[in-house]
Amino acid sequence: LDTVYMERQALRQAREAFLSGRTRPIEFRLQQLHALKSMITEKQTEIANALKQDINRSQYDTPLLELIGIENEIKLAIEKLSEWAAPRPVEKNLLTISDEVYIHPEPLGVVLIIGAWNYPWAVTLLPLVGAIAAGNAAVVKPSELSESSALLLHALLPRYLDKDLYPVVTGGVTETQELLRLRFDHIFYTGSSTVGKQVMEAAAHHLTPVTLELGGKSPCYIDKNCDIRVACRRITWGKFANCGQTCIAPDYILCDPCIQGRVVECIRQTLLVAPDFHRHFFIHPRNFTAVTPPPTVLKDVPPHSRLMQEEIFGPLLPIVTVGDMDDAIRFINEREKPLALYIFCSNKKAVKRMIEETSSGGVTVNDVMMHYTLCSLPFGGVGQSGMGRYHGRHTFDQLSHHRACLIRSLGLESVNLSRYPPQDRRRARR
Ligand code: NAD
Repeated sequence: LDTVYMERQALRQAREAFLSGRTRPIEFRLQQLHALKSMITEKQTEIANALKQDINRSQYDTPLLELIGIENEIKLAIEKLSEWAAPRPVEKNLLTISDEVYIHPEPLGVVLIIGAWNYPWAVTLLPLVGAIAAGNAAVVKPSELSESSALLLHALLPRYLDKDLYPVVTGGVTETQELLRLRFDHIFYTGSSTVGKQVMEAAAHHLTPVTLELGGKSPCYIDKNCDIRVACRRITWGKFANCGQTCIAPDYILCDPCIQGRVVECIRQTLLVAPDFHRHFFIHPRNFTAVTPPPTVLKDVPPHSRLMQEEIFGPLLPIVTVGDMDDAIRFINEREKPLALYIFCSNKKAVKRMIEETSSGGVTVNDVMMHYTLCSLPFGGVGQSGMGRYHGRHTFDQLSHHRACLIRSLGLESVNLSRYPPQDRRRARR
């Protein structure tokens, strides 16, 4: 009962604060964004310590994997906010030639942000940056599985930001389900596809729009003619960073049987010279209790094996052999649309064809995960890997209503005469 009361109270306060109109001025939003940036800079050590406790992430990895990205997003939002929030004039037609016609991005209201545990700061704060920039209030619900981070966020956010507008609510499944009963103006969810469906179902009850940042099995195709050593080094980094628990980690490799041996050997060599992957070995206990080996590569994995049915989200890298690129394209298209697709190939024409003939949330060619790092590219899934997009201006747009505005004068009535019935025409002329 206490939780339900606290959640309702948090939402009520956030809504009242939003309705007070104080998020409307750009200066207010900028001030909140600056405060959020100060929080990240000043509390880096505390955040890294919390992540060490939560997922045994090394102090070295935290800035690189999580904090720099958040800082960059805040900096960009601060720099571009006036541009993003400005009215956007649009093309006119003959009938509206003397009108003022534009799109006005306006805040939606109160956004609910629900985060996953694997990058607990990025998945809550990146949407929050956009929510603040777009002038919304936001209730933030971090994952209970990264508890230290959740508690730290709960303690820090009200010290830096407006207490009423951006409350942090902690709790697990029950608490989140209670939250989902309430009426929000947008729900931004990051987590598994299974829970994503429940979020969407709850949102439908209030006709609340959703952004679902989900997971899936991101394929990684290696062409037999590319530089396999470099390809494998990049893949190994992407697969085993954060112990494979990254939504856009390459899930499995597709390659010609004739290069499989060399792929395994190159990954093994990379792992040998980078023992960090072992040192930071951590699998969340709830996550795949059956999968607890050190970094492992599996050869000749049958396409119908269990490993090929679910997102792996751990340090296991299966290789499925395919005849050629056409075979790989067919393999990918027979499955759910993934969050990311990786293509290692030196033939640009072939690369373009593979992009053209497949679908995924995003693509990186000759590397992994790099499309995520660019704020100008929309990040998000398609089909089972999610809906909606964010990062940079895309978050701002996702969390704004694009209001169609047409302002006309009461003059020039003669232009309108043709649209009135004949009997009215005489009256209008008078
Ligand atoms: P999780 O278990 O932490 O769940 C995510 C959130 O949903 C948490 O806040 C949790 O409290 C809540 N939740 C869990 N079960 C619920 C239920 N039954 N009803 C209501 N709320 C519930 O995270 P997870 O699901 O283990 O996260 C891993 C998944 O997230 C992977 O599939 C991964 O690919 C995906 N992911 C996606 C992105 C992305 O940006 N697309 C980023 C990170 C993780």
